[in-house]
Amino acid sequence: MTTPAAVTDPAAEATPAGATDAAPASRSSAELIRAEEPVVAHNYHPLPVVLARAEGVWVEDVEGRRYLDLLAGYSALNFGHRHPALVEAAHRQLDRLTLTSRAFHHDRLAGFAEGLAELTGLDMVLPMNTGAEAVESGIKLARKWAYEVKGVAPDRATIVVAAGNFHGRTTTIVGFSTDETARAGFGPFTPGFRVVPYNDLAALEAAVDETTAAVLIEPIQGEAGVLIPDDGYLTGVRELTRRAGCLFIADEIQSGLGRTGRTLAVDHEDVRPDVLLLGKALGGGIVPVSAVVARREVLGVLRPGEHGSTFGGNPLAAAVGSAVVELLATGEYQRRAADLGEVLSSGLAALQGNGVTGFRARGLWAGVDIDPALGTGREISERLVHEGVLVKDTHGATIRIAPPLTITREELEQALAALGTVLGQRA
Ligand SMILES: *Cc1c(COP(=O)(O)O)cnc(C)c1O
Repeated sequence: MTTPAAVTDPAAEATPAGATDAAPASRSSAELIRAEEPVVAHNYHPLPVVLARAEGVWVEDVEGRRYLDLLAGYSALNFGHRHPALVEAAHRQLDRLTLTSRAFHHDRLAGFAEGLAELTGLDMVLPMNTGAEAVESGIKLARKWAYEVKGVAPDRATIVVAAGNFHGRTTTIVGFSTDETARAGFGPFTPGFRVVPYNDLAALEAAVDETTAAVLIEPIQGEAGVLIPDDGYLTGVRELTRRAGCLFIADEIQSGLGRTGRTLAVDHEDVRPDVLLLGKALGGGIVPVSAVVARREVLGVLRPGEHGSTFGGNPLAAAVGSAVVELLATGEYQRRAADLGEVLSSGLAALQGNGVTGFRARGLWAGVDIDPALGTGREISERLVHEGVLVKDTHGATIRIAPPLTITREELEQALAALGTVLGQRA
């Protein structure tokens, strides 16, 4: 933690972020990292950078070094850090009403649900908090629907999922993960899941039967390394599930809300799932907000007392979520992601053969395979820290690039140049 960030921020002088308030911590980055060690669970292995403030695509560490944030909170920060419209919505709501529980109505929920239903082309919203909760809620919903509407025999419902999936960290969800690190030691697991290879319609067809409540997939597998299925796969899943009389649940917690250059990743094939799972960016990088959005015939099976969450749909979350929906309703962010996605893809194409062995990109989202001779994804990420760019490895030699959709072309080119520099260095 000694090399100053080499990247310079052209907007730095115009940025008032934290100019007047002193850092809350007087300890150095190294001291804070050491201080975490005995008191914070070791379930993450963060890059050795300690952030203290941020604005837009720029984050700043305890020592005042600035970095371009190309991870964007795993897409929870699609609108950048502290987007003015989102911060303002939060401030206004903080001064009025923050939490009621769903024991009472409040004046922000209807607008949030109306906006989200309209944005997604679906009918009803079940508000939750985290992504994993939305997935759990989707699973419960699909099972309930299978017994009540489809007529599956009691306790026999199955859900078909894809290998390489990432849907969160609860015990039920890790039970159908194919990542041994995520699963091992956490059993026994919830039965009723069938795993098929991703991007394989024949395997999916073979796994679906009269017990199938739903097919649950990510339209693009983010954690697996930004794996984009073949054109026609999502259309195929839609047709197959319709024919089989089961639900199509799309987990767009990471792929949705502008990231890929469309509102939803399924929009690239003009496919409407029965159930859509949203999270991450829905909270504007301010509060955890997730949602199950579905057709009325599906979400309508839930009745009072059957499901809930103390914080789900709270006024603060609904206010921020509504502001996020308003930003997306303009189409501006989707367009930016599509346009700058071209810059990202051509920049990565230029690095192909020069340290990059392959990449997959859609909109402002890329999985980049690094030549293992140059180091692991982790090592590349660590070297990028010294170039003033924050990314995170996914698996082995793959790094993921997902900047805030507010990034400028110049900033993106700066980041790509930093990647080029790092890949030109020998391990
Ligand atoms: C992040 C993520 C989740 C889990 O969200 P949390 O808020 O971390 O619980 C679920 N599905 C996908 C596709 C994700 O990327």
